[in-house]
Amino acid sequence: MACVGPREERTEKSADWLARVADIRQWTQRGKRAPHKPLLLLHAIAQLHNDRVSRLAYEQVGPKLRAWLDDFGPQRDVQHPEQPFWRLQNDVGLWTVATTVPIRPDQLSDGTLRKAQAVGSLAPEFVSALLDDLALMLAVARSLLLSNWPESLHQSICESVGLDLGGIEASLARQRTRELPIPERRRDPEFRIKVLRAYEYRCAMCGFDGRLDSTTVGLEAAHIQWWAVNGPDVIPNGLCLCAMHHQLFDRGVLGLTSDREVMVSAQFVGRDRAAEEMVWSLSGKELLRPRDHLDAVAEPHRRWHEDQVFRSPAR
Ligand SMILES: [Zn+2]
Repeated sequence: MACVGPREERTEKSADWLARVADIRQWTQRGKRAPHKPLLLLHAIAQLHNDRVSRLAYEQVGPKLRAWLDDFGPQRDVQHPEQPFWRLQNDVGLWTVATTVPIRPDQLSDGTLRKAQAVGSLAPEFVSALLDDLALMLAVARSLLLSNWPESLHQSICESVGLDLGGIEASLARQRTRELPIPERRRDPEFRIKVLRAYEYRCAMCGFDGRLDSTTVGLEAAHIQWWAVNGPDVIPNGLCLCAMHHQLFDRGVLGLTSDREVMVSAQFVGRDRAAEEMVWSLSGKELLRPRDHLDAVAEPHRRWHEDQVFRSPAR
């Protein structure tokens, strides 16, 4: 009989929790990405780490979740925070919801959850696994972030949901150094340089071509269809953008028309001359072309970005 020590046993259990969390990322609503459950889970993990609290009252968390969905989810007229709060308990066994009166699935709404004083809790076994193994906590948080958003947004998301990844890392380092491998696709390490080269080291929107000594500075390779949602590491899915336009492109302030012109969201607010120069003046501007026409932005990726990221309408 194989002898399994406590450490191996814990690693195996942790890998199982990680796999369960990875399963929830598949969820989409009518073809649109729906990062509701990941946002809720990230917040629950933040609370657990910061305050050792594993219960969240809907009354408090509902409005916050609505705001995060506006900021980091696809555009919708009405956001539905009650959906992840209730449904997270169905598919992965990580979460339960207690109510003062029973709720039938067809009665689910923001109002019924409030009236029933709904309180969601991380499953007790999941809580002990997370607290017992900070490497698992870190791996779960990173896996949720990496599977749903590009890295340019991770810091803003963590700040919003109260997640202090650096703090967890520090606690972990103090505890001991053991990392769980995060299940992830391998990135093409050449993607960045290929895209920058294709655009001759210039921002495809504003033409910025900064250099410091012999290296480029302030230029990045953006994925048009996010890598986190299966966007491939190929030049037709890439754009060389300056750091500012990369961030605005990933947040949906900037988009691309089917004629490869820059669109600016009418929802963007910026009145200063700098906003005029850096953002509004790009509206209708033709994107710089890559050196080789085969490398030009591919329509399916452009369309994905317009459907799933860009904050319509364009001005
Ligand atoms: Zn730029």
